[in-house]
Amino acid sequence: MKKVLIATFVATFLFWSCDTDNLENQIPQEEQQRVDLGVDAGELDRMAENTTSRQCHSMNVLARQLQENPGMLQRMEEIEARTNIFAKPGNGNGNGGGGNGGGDPDPVPDNLGTIVIPVYVHVIYNTSQQNISDAQINSQIAVLNNDFRKTNSDVNQIPSEFSGLAADSEVEFVLAGITRKNTATTSWGTNDSMKYTSNGGVDVVSPNTHLNIWVCNIGGGILGYAQFPGGSATTDGVVISPQYFGSQGYVSAPFDEGRTATHEVGHYLNLRHIWGDGRCRKDDFVSDTPSSDGPNYGCPSYPTVNCRSNDMTMNYMDYVDDACMYMFSEGQKTRMRALFADGGARDGMVN
Ligand SMILES: [Zn+2]
Repeated sequence: MKKVLIATFVATFLFWSCDTDNLENQIPQEEQQRVDLGVDAGELDRMAENTTSRQCHSMNVLARQLQENPGMLQRMEEIEARTNIFAKPGNGNGNGGGGNGGGDPDPVPDNLGTIVIPVYVHVIYNTSQQNISDAQINSQIAVLNNDFRKTNSDVNQIPSEFSGLAADSEVEFVLAGITRKNTATTSWGTNDSMKYTSNGGVDVVSPNTHLNIWVCNIGGGILGYAQFPGGSATTDGVVISPQYFGSQGYVSAPFDEGRTATHEVGHYLNLRHIWGDGRCRKDDFVSDTPSSDGPNYGCPSYPTVNCRSNDMTMNYMDYVDDACMYMFSEGQKTRMRALFADGGARDGMVN
């Protein structure tokens, strides 16, 4: 696999990533930030060793899209710059990769209010089981609402170290419509072909104003993947295999509580994995999530120590089982909501 590791420099006013030590003497700290938005394929290979556990292919898809789409990286850089400006008033202690311990999260009063995202669900099935019920789809919408509004019933399991960081993201979801399509394709992979009617899939519907979720068998043990903001509108949205979608019906433990969608919608709203998809110094661009050097699996006990701090294993953007993830952080909330501000990548959803 070709290594896609792209480092760029973007002028900002405030932030400084933790892996820029060698540059500190050359560039004024307050003017420059290293934004490494790319993907290290070697790290993806390292993460793929644990194939019996949660597998999200969002970063692999990002690597492919960055290769195929020359304009995507620049769009992502612009989104990153806007996000940093948006986050500045309250998050101004440096977002050094999660991990530098800095940054008392200070929720930003963004005046956006509760953001309601209408959702199209496209069920593309080869077997009757994969043609999941309306009830299963509705159970997924309910999980998304509980998780993004911090009304999930397991929120009380957050250890005290992190409970003050748990965020009500003030993002809600409403089902706008369901499409159903029978297909001869038994597994779709991650090349986005399910997003085109011409390939036997279903075309995206109103991506500027709606979240599209394709529910189809991906195969290869992959639970789902999302497209990050900055990608093509025709492929914008989230893909999830039917047995990991929703919390009732045709669901498969330990990913049977609808948290795969919570995780993937987190990516769709520009969140990275909690460990930054790299070693300790790799950034997830959020200040209040401690550094880690890789994903956690299963149901870790607290505390789980990595990179000289306790991992926030219960964060939705880790790789733990559904029953063991139950929070977004305030920093993640700010990062997500930046997309909806004027000029943000998803501002069409609120205007
Ligand atoms: Zn992921």
